[in-house]
Amino acid sequence: MKDDIAIIGAGLGGLMLARVLHVNGIPATIYEAEASPEARTQGGLLDIHELSGQQALRDAGLYDAFLALVRPGEDAKRIVDQHGTVLFDHPGDPASTRPEVDRGELRAMLIASLPPGTIRWGHKAVSLERDGARHRVAFAHGSGIEADLLVGADGAWSKVRPLLSDAGPLYAGVSFIEIGIVEGALRHKAMIDAIGGGTLMALAPGKGIMAHRHGDGTMRGYAALHLPEADVGTARGDLASHFAGWAPWLVDFLTLSEIEPLLRPIHALPVDHCWARRPGLTLLGDAAHLMSPFAGEGANLAMLDGARLAGALLAHPGDGEAALAAYEHELFARSQPVAQRSASNLARFFGDDAPFSAIDLFQAALRR
Ligand SMILES: Cc1cc2nc3c(=O)[nH]c(=O)nc-3n(C[C@H](O)[C@H](O)[C@H](O)COP(=O)(O)OP(=O)(O)OC[C@H]3O[C@@H](n4cnc5c(N)ncnc54)[C@H](O)[C@@H]3O)c2cc1C
Repeated sequence: MKDDIAIIGAGLGGLMLARVLHVNGIPATIYEAEASPEARTQGGLLDIHELSGQQALRDAGLYDAFLALVRPGEDAKRIVDQHGTVLFDHPGDPASTRPEVDRGELRAMLIASLPPGTIRWGHKAVSLERDGARHRVAFAHGSGIEADLLVGADGAWSKVRPLLSDAGPLYAGVSFIEIGIVEGALRHKAMIDAIGGGTLMALAPGKGIMAHRHGDGTMRGYAALHLPEADVGTARGDLASHFAGWAPWLVDFLTLSEIEPLLRPIHALPVDHCWARRPGLTLLGDAAHLMSPFAGEGANLAMLDGARLAGALLAHPGDGEAALAAYEHELFARSQPVAQRSASNLARFFGDDAPFSAIDLFQAALRR
């Protein structure tokens, strides 16, 4: 089978690319490893930024649909120290320029905005090669395609990236462990209410607990540990012991967590990641610029990349190479400073001056 435009990965970035192409009359096909839209819970909230994620949603003609998903006031931020003393308390703003939405709902909205058949679920790309002017992709179940333009939107561990770059994700020095209280939310209401209207961050040098109170009264979040990679595997088992001496109600977020403590070591590509132009091939989102989540930009940039790549293809009809050159030039200039900021924010979240260094970050963001 042959596609003009094949996108590997139905994350926010790949979906946005297909959507902006679709509203401008250009078909594309997305090949996604997961078996169905419901195969994995997407979890977590994302704050969607005015100049990146929101701009992409406007390009996609989905801005009003996005507004319907916004959770007013859930952008509230509270920072406490390990004793639970409140040091920073920013109330939610119903008119926030960075409103929060549920990642799963945002992805579902993008999926529903595409014509049926655009996404081929259960297509895990396992090998890719250049074949003359085209690229050939083989999928795990045995089928394959050829594409004139192949876009790697396949996230952190991209299979497409090695065709363009020798770089790979490196451990960023911190691991997240998912926590959540859903069933017992009513029973633990007082503790969950202490989060405030949005996100609570309890920080100390080298560690933290981040808990988000959802509108339905449930809590989801992460414990974060600044640990060498070799010690990451054991972190899950003795999680509470890393927080000995912390206020008991903070440690309760870990010990009362009802969900399987899923360990997520955080990885990043080098902050200056880029590649030389190769015909008919490019990357977007985490495949292009995986960064730690401490600038809160990864999903926003993935959507903007998708919209901008579509824009470049529309601006250079019949000249795919000019489109990709223009897209990548802008991509590198846009993503490298954000990756740098993300890396330095990570150091400020968990450095020796935490939580005060993190408070400085939020205060500076508010002044902007
Ligand atoms: C703990 C955590 C918190 C975060 N918080 C925020 C935040 O608050 N704000 C923010 O903006 N960003 C945040 N991020 C970053 C954000 O999640 C990513 O940057 C974003 O999801 C990248 O989107 P993407 O479309 O590039 O990739 P992904 O969302 O990873 O999507 C890639 C898709 O490709 C598919 N795929 C992978 N391999 C293959 C294959 N071989 N064949 C076919 N399909 C494949 C996957 O199944 C997936 O559907 C956070 C990240 C983490 C880990």
